[in-house]
Amino acid sequence: MIDLLLLGTGGMMPMPNRWLSSLLMRIEGDLVLFDCGEGTQIPWQLYGWGFRRVGTICLSHLHADHVAGIPGLLHAIANAGRQEPVTLFGPPGTVHVVQALREIAPVLGFELRIREIDDGVRFALPGGAEGSVIRGDHALPLLCYRIDMPRGRRFLADEAAEAGIPQRFWSALQKGTDVEIDGRRIPAGRFLGPERKGLSIGFVTDTRPVPNLPGFLRGVDLLVCEGTYGDSADQHKAIDKKHMTFAEAATLAADAQAGALWLTHFSPAVNEPHEWLHNATAIFPTTTIGYSGMEASLAFPSDQD
Ligand SMILES: [Zn+2]
Ligand SMILES: [Zn+2]
Repeated sequence: MIDLLLLGTGGMMPMPNRWLSSLLMRIEGDLVLFDCGEGTQIPWQLYGWGFRRVGTICLSHLHADHVAGIPGLLHAIANAGRQEPVTLFGPPGTVHVVQALREIAPVLGFELRIREIDDGVRFALPGGAEGSVIRGDHALPLLCYRIDMPRGRRFLADEAAEAGIPQRFWSALQKGTDVEIDGRRIPAGRFLGPERKGLSIGFVTDTRPVPNLPGFLRGVDLLVCEGTYGDSADQHKAIDKKHMTFAEAATLAADAQAGALWLTHFSPAVNEPHEWLHNATAIFPTTTIGYSGMEASLAFPSDQD
């Protein structure tokens, strides 16, 4: 099970009624944060997910609207009593920027591990999930994220029982470990069903729709994607400032065969994003305009396939 909470939906600067765009993910109780603009900890506090369990922070890039909230957030995490390390992933240049931000948050009760990652890197997340990144196209080095939660193959208990495998060996077989019974080697795969689709989420912001993005995001259950401009007439601005329009984000979701699309990172000039939703739904019907406090839970289907 993966729970998601959109903390804010603004780009460039926080507004009186719009926090900056960032996404919080809960995997088996542990929290992963994507981007941390100014004031990120305030809506976080409002929705009550708590700060102590955040062990991973992933940064798309190093513009202020995605990183300026880090010192305040680190204090909030320390205040919550966390002592375990926190790992922060970001593009090249992250060590320099985050160390500078640490100058104003020097004393924490936990270790902050900073890892610069780049195109093609994969990294482990809580609960057996895996993150991966590719480069986008923005004014600064930028990472697009994909999170995958694999699903194990189903254990064929009836067949194991029929074959006379004692139950004390079932757990090992289920985990994919071969076992030996009375000198006979039983391969784990013998009692496992076919491969099953896992859960996957894409987090893409502050980039033009680069050609390899649809392949990278192929089949994600949910794509959380920037839509800086709602009006397709603003496409020249999107090209110039290296962002996307709603229509471009919807085209990306359609090309990637995503399950659903949440739009976020709206320009301060876009007062009412809903006015432009039709520009996205005409291309990708399962598009939703993101809002602060928007939540979803993704779970493996309960069927036995
Ligand atoms: Zn931004
Ligand atoms: Zn940016």
